[in-house]
Amino acid sequence: MSSWNPATRLVARDTRRHGQERPCAPPLHLSATFVQEDPLEPAAFDYTRTDNPTRAWLEEDLAALEGAARTLAFTSGMAALATLLRTLRPGQRVVAGADLYGGSFRLLAQAARVQGLVVQHVDPAAIVAGTVELPADTRLVWVESPTNPLQEVVDLRALARVVHRGGARLAVDGTLCSPWLLRPLELGADVSVQSATKHLGGHADLMAGTLSVRDEEFGHELFALRNAEGNGLAPFDAWLLSRGLSTLGVRLERAQVGARAVAHFLAGHPAVTRVRYVGLADHPGHALHASQADGPGCVLSFETGDGERSRALVRALELFSCTVSFGSVRSTVSLPCSMSHASIPAAARARHAPPADLVRLSIGLEDPRDLVQDLDQALARSVLSVGGAS
Ligand SMILES: *Cc1c(COP(=O)(O)O)cnc(C)c1O
Repeated sequence: MSSWNPATRLVARDTRRHGQERPCAPPLHLSATFVQEDPLEPAAFDYTRTDNPTRAWLEEDLAALEGAARTLAFTSGMAALATLLRTLRPGQRVVAGADLYGGSFRLLAQAARVQGLVVQHVDPAAIVAGTVELPADTRLVWVESPTNPLQEVVDLRALARVVHRGGARLAVDGTLCSPWLLRPLELGADVSVQSATKHLGGHADLMAGTLSVRDEEFGHELFALRNAEGNGLAPFDAWLLSRGLSTLGVRLERAQVGARAVAHFLAGHPAVTRVRYVGLADHPGHALHASQADGPGCVLSFETGDGERSRALVRALELFSCTVSFGSVRSTVSLPCSMSHASIPAAARARHAPPADLVRLSIGLEDPRDLVQDLDQALARSVLSVGGAS
C-alpha cells in the first residue's frame, strides 16, 4: 500500500485503522471522550483534545504525503505556527523571511512582545549567498518559497544546509504550493507548515493548519504542546479536510492549467507591467523552483503600474470574487497590500509591504477561457476609467 503513488493513496484510503469496521470513506468521530474498558487500562483514544480517530486518520494521510515522521493538525495555519513558536524560549532568535504572509508578521511581532523571542526578518537568499550570517543564537529559520504574494524563490536545499550548520531548525511554510507540489521535508527542512485552509481543504469551507516533522521526538514535543493548549483540529473539520484531500491532485493539476493560461494572457497584455508567476520561463526563480517542486501552483500576481487602476480592475472583475485567502475551487482576486498583508506592523511596512498596485489571483476550476475573458474585460474597463498605462 505504501508503495502506491500519492494520488492513489489519497483516494484508496487504508481503512484498517482505528476500529473494527472497514468504512469505505473516512469516518467522523465527533465524540469528545472515549470509553475505557478498565480504569487502569488506557484506551487507544481517551479525550479528543489529546487525540481523535478522525484527526489521527487525517494526520496519517498527510504524513504520508509530506514524507513526515509525524503530522499534527491544528485549528488554523496560525495556530500551527504559534505552536511551533512555543518550542522556543525567551531570548532565542527566529530569523524569518522578509516576504511572508501578513499574519505571520503579526504573529512574530506578538511572539517578540509577549514571549520575548528575538525576531529578525532577512531575505533568505542572502543567507544562502552568505552575505547575511545567521547569528549564533538562531534557533529557528522560517521562510516561504515561493513567497506569497511576491513569488520569490529560495534554494531550500542550500538553505537547510546553512541552517543546520548553525544548529538551528528550518521551517518552510509551503502553503502556496501545498505538499502535492512542494514537500519541504524532502528538501532538508525540519518542519513543513501548511495553512490547510487553502489548497489542502480546497473548498474555502474550513480552517486548519498542519505541522509536519521528520523527527519523532520533536513531533512528540509539538503533540504535548497541542494537548496542553487545546488547539487541535476539531473532528468535523478534520473530516472535511480528509474529504478535500482525495481531490487535491486533480484540483491542483487542473488549476495549474488555468493559471498558465491566465499568466500567458497577462504577460502579453499592454496594461500589465509585470507578471509574477514561477511558471513563466522568464521568472528569475523559474528553474530553481522547478528543481525543488512538481509544479508552479495556481497563485500568481501582477502589476499595472498604478494602484488606482488595480483597484478599478478588481472592482470590474465579475467571475473572480474579491476575497483574502486562496486555494479554493473558485477563482479569487485580492489586493494584498490593502487586504491579506495589511496586518504587517507599521514599522515593517515600508520595507516589507507588497506594492500598492499588486493584484493577486488564485486560479480555481472554472473554464480558463472564461477567466481570461473576465480579466480582458476588467483590464479594458480599468484603463477606460483610470487612464492607460503610462
Ligand atoms: C493563510 C496563510 C497562513 C495562515 O493560515 P490560516 O489557516 O489562515 O491561519 C499562513 N501562511 C500562509 C502562506 C498563508 O497563506
